[in-house]
Amino acid sequence: MARDSRHGLNRRLRVNPVACDGVGICGHLAAELVRFDSWGYPIVTERALDQRDLNRATAAVAACPKRALFIQDSRY
Ligand code: SF4
Repeated sequence: MARDSRHGLNRRLRVNPVACDGVGICGHLAAELVRFDSWGYPIVTERALDQRDLNRATAAVAACPKRALFIQDSRY
């Protein structure tokens, strides 16, 4: 897991469902982290991101046209 050793944090990919329009580029850039529901909206993994995940998640966040994806630090 990609932990911030200074603060004991894990990083997780999150989506704001209000902002998301279901275009789906995130699923192409981070296929291991994102699947889609029957309406085509993303469901992001709940697991903490390891370094490889974090690279893909960062690319997906940067490419999201609605700024609906983000990476959240958490303690669990
Ligand atoms: S790229 Fe952004 S707007 Fe498109 S489906 Fe993914 S989260 Fe939603």
